[in-house]
Amino acid sequence: MTGRRMTEPFVYNGLPTRVIFGTGTLARLPGEVDRLGLARVLIVATAQQRDQAATLAGLLGPRAAGVHAEAVMHTPVAVTEKAVARAVAEGVDGLVSIGGGSSIGLGKAIGVRTGLPHLAVPTTYAGSEMTAILGETSNGLKTTRRDDRILPAVALYDVALTLSLPAALSVASGMNALAHAVEALYAQDRNPIVSIMAEQAIGALVRALPGVVADPADPAARSGALYGAWLGGACLGSVGMALHHKLCHVLGGAFDLPHAETHTVLLPHAVAYNAGAAPDMAGRLADILDDGPEAGPALQDFARRLGAPTALRALGMPESGIDLAAGLAVQSPYWNPRPVERDAVRVLLARAWAGEPPVTP
Ligand code: NAD
Repeated sequence: MTGRRMTEPFVYNGLPTRVIFGTGTLARLPGEVDRLGLARVLIVATAQQRDQAATLAGLLGPRAAGVHAEAVMHTPVAVTEKAVARAVAEGVDGLVSIGGGSSIGLGKAIGVRTGLPHLAVPTTYAGSEMTAILGETSNGLKTTRRDDRILPAVALYDVALTLSLPAALSVASGMNALAHAVEALYAQDRNPIVSIMAEQAIGALVRALPGVVADPADPAARSGALYGAWLGGACLGSVGMALHHKLCHVLGGAFDLPHAETHTVLLPHAVAYNAGAAPDMAGRLADILDDGPEAGPALQDFARRLGAPTALRALGMPESGIDLAAGLAVQSPYWNPRPVERDAVRVLLARAWAGEPPVTP
């Protein structure tokens, strides 16, 4: 972008979410609720994080109407309707979600139906707090929409809240964050700011995740990982995603595979698929991973060293699903730097299913 080369034309939209990042930042929650002018909020979480949600209620005192700890993965509409009824019955004027994409997804789903402002306290690396995207399930079908009203007003990151995220979940969630940044580097609507954020995100996550695995309570490693996750989320919230995210949505919907782990297994294969058509992404990623010239295999080695799954069959996908998934992936493909061809996608999926090294099919 410098010197004698022309800067590519671009469009850039800044995300309006207020971001607070640090350690011990949860102490600022009451002030942030006041800043939004809220008098009585409903706190949403999963059942597993009921205690963390109760801590928030304690901090908020009379500003907390109660804890609704019924969030589950993939945001089922029936769960949302029950939560909306509770929010209406309690007469709340705002929402606070604490947790990963499941809790924040429920906060978004209530918020978009009621117009209530939403403050998100993320505790994984999934990045949902930085996006205006909501995926919801009904009758076994997951539909995703983008609407500015879905974006949380505030994202409050407290590194201390992530110390309890188990190492295996941290790695998978970190790979989910990496996937947002990697696909941002070759997005059709990429722009200089988002590319800088993406490169920073990849660097921060690649440096931090080995430290998180070595010692899940290491505050410096946790801080780096959460910083990378914030940037990855901002990439996801700013530009369009491509083949990798399409495949994850197809596999999640068709076989109910776990979200973050599916990203972990597929990302090296999607990188290899696109490496030739997106040499800038492949070059930057290979440089950061510093493990040979090929970004896809280097990324799979990185994941394996961290103990992450590398085969879709280990996540419960049946071998017979490879053809079905390849067909679904090409039916309504997302834009991708390289054309999405059924035979090549089938090769990609078959190798990812078996846990083989990624190749450019
Ligand atoms: P999750 O929110 O389901 O969390 C996984 C489990 O870890 C849950 O039981 C949760 O309570 C627990 N957990 C979370 N943080 C913890 C902590 N610090 N300590 C201990 N336990 C903790 O998983 P996820 O991967 O964060 O989110 C997945 C969901 O989010 C999917 O439904 C996915 O579609 C959605 N998502 C949406 C977006 C978006 O922009 N809309 C982005 C990413 C993910």
